[in-house]
Amino acid sequence: MMFSMLAWNTDDWQIDLTDALTMNRHWTGNGSVADYIPELRWGDPNQLGIVVTSNYGSIKAGDCGMEFTLQSIVKILTLMLALEDQGEEKVFSHVGSEPTGDPFNSIIKLETTSPRKPLNPMINAGAIAVCSLLSGQGVEGKMSRITSFISTIINREVGYSHAVHTSEKETGDRNRALAYFMKDVGVLIGDVDEVLDLYFRCCSIELTCSELARIGYFLAMKGRLEDGCQLVSKATVRLVTTFMVTCGMYNASGEFAIHVGIPAKSGVSGGILAVVPDTLGIGIYGPSLDDKGNSIGGVKLLQDLSKRWDLSIF
Ligand code: GLN
Repeated sequence: MMFSMLAWNTDDWQIDLTDALTMNRHWTGNGSVADYIPELRWGDPNQLGIVVTSNYGSIKAGDCGMEFTLQSIVKILTLMLALEDQGEEKVFSHVGSEPTGDPFNSIIKLETTSPRKPLNPMINAGAIAVCSLLSGQGVEGKMSRITSFISTIINREVGYSHAVHTSEKETGDRNRALAYFMKDVGVLIGDVDEVLDLYFRCCSIELTCSELARIGYFLAMKGRLEDGCQLVSKATVRLVTTFMVTCGMYNASGEFAIHVGIPAKSGVSGGILAVVPDTLGIGIYGPSLDDKGNSIGGVKLLQDLSKRWDLSIF
C-alpha cells in the first residue's frame, strides 16, 4: 500500500503499523543495550515502540509510554539552533559536512583531516564543537534556550535526566579527549568543561516517542509549527535533514539510505527520529542496539514500513 495523504485511513495504517511492529519485535533479541554510559544500562532490551504523526494525527504501536534520553538525536536540534544563531558560514568554519565511515565517538580523523575540524555535526566531536557556538549566558542560559526551543516544538516543558547527565559526566573521557583536542586546534570556543557540561545535559534531555514523532513532523513541515509559525528557516531544515541522510545513522548511514531511504537520526538510548519530507514524522524507541549503536529493532521496523508504504525519498 503506497503511502498517500489523500488515501489516509487511520484504521488501515494502524493495522499495518501494528503488524510491522509484531513482525519485527524479535530483532530486539539480536542486540544489546548501551552500557558505556552506566545509567543507560537500565533500558529494557525487549521494548520497541513507534509513533507516526501526520496531518491527520498520530498512530502508535508497541511500547511508547515512557520517556528516554535523546542522546545523539539532540545533535539535530543543537545544530538547528547554532545555524539560526551564527549562520551557515560561521558554523561550517568549525565543523565539516562529510560522512566519516568511523564510529560516532572516533578520534582518529580529528588529527589527520585538514583543516583539523570534525568531519560533520552528527559525530560527537562535531556536536561538541556546535555546542560551543550556541548563544546564551553560561551553561544554564544556553541549556534553557535549547529546552525552550524543544518545548515550543512539542508544546510541553521539557527537562533532562540528572542521573544520565551525571553518569555521562563521570565516564565521558573520550568526549573530554575530543573536546581538549579541538580546543587546542582552535575549533572549540570557550571553556572545555562548560561546553562538555552543556553537551552532556543536551544528550540527557528526556522525551517520549510521540514527542520525537512531533519533532519529526515539524521537520517534515520544513520548520513550521502547527499554528503556522515558521520557527526556523527552511534553509536550516534543509541542511539538517540532509545531514540526517548522510550521517544520521553513524557509519551505517549508507546502508540505511539504501534499505530505508528517509532522513533519520538515532541515539544510543535506542531512540530514532525519522522524517518523510512533507508527510510524516516518526519516533521510535528500542534500547537494544546493533553493533553500530542504532536501535536494532527500530531500523528493521523502519525498513519494513518503508517497503510497505513506499516511503523512500530516492
Ligand atoms: N551522549 C552520547 C555520547 O556522547 C551520545 C552518543 C550517541 O547517542 N551516539 O557518547
